[in-house]
Amino acid sequence: MKQNFIGGRWVDGANAVPNINPSDLNDVIDLYAHADVAQAREAVAAASAASAEWAASTPQQRFDVLDRVGTELLARSQELGDLLAREEGKTLPEAMGEVTRAGQIFKFFAGEALRLRGDLLPSVRPGISVEVTREPLGVVTLITPWNFPIAIPAWKIAPALAFGNSVVFKPAELVPGCAWALAEILSRSGLPAGAFNLVMGPGAELGGALIEDRRVHGVSFTGSQTTGRRIAQACTAHGIKFQLEMGGKNPLIVLDDADLAVAVNCAVQGAFFSTGQRCTATSRIIVTDGIHDRFVQALTQRMAQLRVGDARTAGVDLGPVVDERQLAIDLGYIASAQSEGATLAFGGQHRERDENGQAGFFLTPALFTDTHPDMRINSEEVFGPVATVQRARHYDEALALANNTPFGLSSGLCTTSLRHATHFKRHAQAGMVMVNTPTAGADYHVPFGGRKASSMGAREQGAYANEFYTTVKTAYTAA
Ligand code: NAD
Repeated sequence: MKQNFIGGRWVDGANAVPNINPSDLNDVIDLYAHADVAQAREAVAAASAASAEWAASTPQQRFDVLDRVGTELLARSQELGDLLAREEGKTLPEAMGEVTRAGQIFKFFAGEALRLRGDLLPSVRPGISVEVTREPLGVVTLITPWNFPIAIPAWKIAPALAFGNSVVFKPAELVPGCAWALAEILSRSGLPAGAFNLVMGPGAELGGALIEDRRVHGVSFTGSQTTGRRIAQACTAHGIKFQLEMGGKNPLIVLDDADLAVAVNCAVQGAFFSTGQRCTATSRIIVTDGIHDRFVQALTQRMAQLRVGDARTAGVDLGPVVDERQLAIDLGYIASAQSEGATLAFGGQHRERDENGQAGFFLTPALFTDTHPDMRINSEEVFGPVATVQRARHYDEALALANNTPFGLSSGLCTTSLRHATHFKRHAQAGMVMVNTPTAGADYHVPFGGRKASSMGAREQGAYANEFYTTVKTAYTAA
């Protein structure tokens, strides 16, 4: 059984919960201890007690800790990638790529610990100087979703520690394996006891203790809009700084002048890879009339070649849906799109077994055509391998359709026109804009995040991460 890590010690929880492989329902990865509310409070207390010591650590100490973690993640990318594919259902190459990404993130923030800058300015008054510096927030609670079980924890934990904060980390219930493996590496990294704590278990039960506590100074959350809004209310009521990254309904526009092969590739990768379970996944493909039929034909032909199966089998393109609940949500949206009059042009079939007869949550990628902006399938996040096609007469109409969503995470365009590409980068209402490249797939050294209902608060990743994980101090000195 794998335990929680609180105050520098491994501790049992209230109960032990099995972690099941969605590609093989007979495969129990391990049992993971779920903490109770008292243990969640202990983790906050431990982080608070360690806070002064870690905040006083030198940039070199922080660099060494984070660099060590990054080195180990990179060295173990195959083994940890296998665990990730086994518990979450991404294919093995995708999972190994995610572990590598996590290692690169730790290395990047090791460097950021050395680069934290301030400003020294003359005052507007004579004889006075002004220093502007950044200090750690104190204790931060980090709450993560299941779909990137190691990269999202990495892009919260690494900057939090790099800038001198103590951490209480609560991973999603479905993916404790990667969280535990990362915590185990951190437990040997040279941090003072209590500077990093792992609390596993249901967010709805533990959330109160991890957020509504006067010793918590910041909450960074990635997950669904419903949970995010609840966390925002709790943080506001308690005066806690917060940062939310939530869902998306990301469009990909394909214009008449697009390179067809590039457009099909962007659609397949963006909509269906990682089983469509990415916040940046393409879910609405908006295609202008002149290329519509050729594009749909080429896309469905390519979809027919995609192999769905066990995430760890070589040659499989799409692993399973993460669990039974998400599968029911995906199938519910497929049924609702059909009842609203959309045409199921391809896929959408649930398979209880893979080609070897192994029981799992398999779903063939689904494409709907003849869809309209007011359909549920075009307005709510599905979070599965399901995409729609909407027709547009020209670029302006396509852009209006793309922006016609409460979300604003990622937005894509396939075109060979410099004029349209330039206009789109300026006018797409999204935090991330992609031209001739899939809506999903971002670099780790630049800001990541959205606008409208997709995000609240400071950006994550890159040099911008210090905006959330530090607080600014302005000091005046009269000489
Ligand atoms: P979720 O909101 O159900 O859960 C996310 C986390 O919040 C989990 O750790 C959960 O235990 C915790 N939680 C649940 N209720 C809580 C509460 N009351 N208090 C505190 N914590 C609570 O989301 P999910 O199903 O794990 O993830 C899928 C969602 O995440 C999708 O909407 C997806 O778009 C979004 N997502 C967004 C990004 C991004 O960067 N924008 C990245 C990945 C995933």
